[in-house]
Amino acid sequence: MQYTGRFAPSPTGPLHFGSLVAAVASYCDAKSQGGKWLLRMENLDEPREVKGAADTILQQLDAFGFEWDDAVVHQSQRAEYYADALNTLQNKQLIYPCTCTRKEIADSSNASGIDGLIYPKTCLKHAPKPTNIHAAARVAVLDKNITFVDRIQGEITQNLARDVGDFIVKRADGLFAYQLAVVVDDATQGVTHVVRGADLLDSTPRQIYLQQLLGFATPLYAHVPVAVNLAGEKLSKQTLAKPISTSLTEHQLFDALSFLGQNPPTEIKNATLDKGWRWAITNWKISNVPNLRQIKSI
Ligand code: GLU
Ligand code: ZN
Repeated sequence: MQYTGRFAPSPTGPLHFGSLVAAVASYCDAKSQGGKWLLRMENLDEPREVKGAADTILQQLDAFGFEWDDAVVHQSQRAEYYADALNTLQNKQLIYPCTCTRKEIADSSNASGIDGLIYPKTCLKHAPKPTNIHAAARVAVLDKNITFVDRIQGEITQNLARDVGDFIVKRADGLFAYQLAVVVDDATQGVTHVVRGADLLDSTPRQIYLQQLLGFATPLYAHVPVAVNLAGEKLSKQTLAKPISTSLTEHQLFDALSFLGQNPPTEIKNATLDKGWRWAITNWKISNVPNLRQIKSI
C-alpha cells in the first residue's frame, strides 16, 4: 500500500506550537514510510476565513522546510464533492432535514453527550414542511459501538446514539459540516494515514461511520497529544497562543520532536534544518509518542 498522509490546517490564524506538533508528526510518519504528504486548507467557511491566514501558514510551513506533494487543496473549492456525498446519503435515506433552533433542542433534549445535548430526533418524528429551505441535514446514527485502534491512543469505543446523537452534515446556512468534508476529502485524496491532534479523537467515530455509509475505506488513525497552556486550554488563536516564528526554526523543530517523545540529540538544536529533518525522519518512532490526549507546554 502506498502511504498517503496529510496536514489539514484551518486558516483561522497563523500556526502555533500545537499545529507545528501535528504537522511534524504527520510529516515524519509519512516520510519515514516513503509516503506522500498532502496539504489541505480547511476553509469550508470561506467568508469567515481570516484574511491572509492561509498565505501565512504556507510561508510558515515553507520556512520550516516542509515539502508537500501535489497542489494544495482548498475545501472552499470542493462543494460539488460534498454535495455528491450528501446526495448518496439522501438516496439511501440516511439523512433528514432539521429546522430546530438551539433553543428548541435545549428545551426538548433530555440527554447529554460528549459534544453537548443529544438531538432528540424531533424532525425525524415530525418532518418539517418541505418548503422550508433553511433546513440543516442530520445523519441518523445507530445504537451500536464503533471501535477503532488508534496507533497512539489505543482502542477507542464510542456509541454514536448514546455519545453524540444524529449529527449535522450540512448546516442550515448551507455550509457543509466539517465531519462530512473531512471524510470526503480524505477519501478522494486517497489518504491512508491520518496523524492529527487528539482534540479530534472524539470526532473519529463519526468520521468512520460516514466512511461506512459512503463506502469509503477507513484510514489508519494516530492522534498526537494536544499542546495546552498552564490553564489546560488548547493552544489556539482564542487562547492567544504565539504564532510560530519563521526564525530559529531548528530550535522549534527540536522542541516539537521533544514534545512528541522522540528524544532528539541536543546537537539538532543548532544544526541546519536539513540535518534536523534528516534526524527526525530517520529516527521517527510513533511508539515513543506519549499516549496522552494533552500535554502542558509553555
Ligand atoms: N482543520 C482541523 C484543525 O485545524 C484539522 C482537521 C483534521 O486533521 O482532520 O484543527
Ligand atoms: Zn429538528
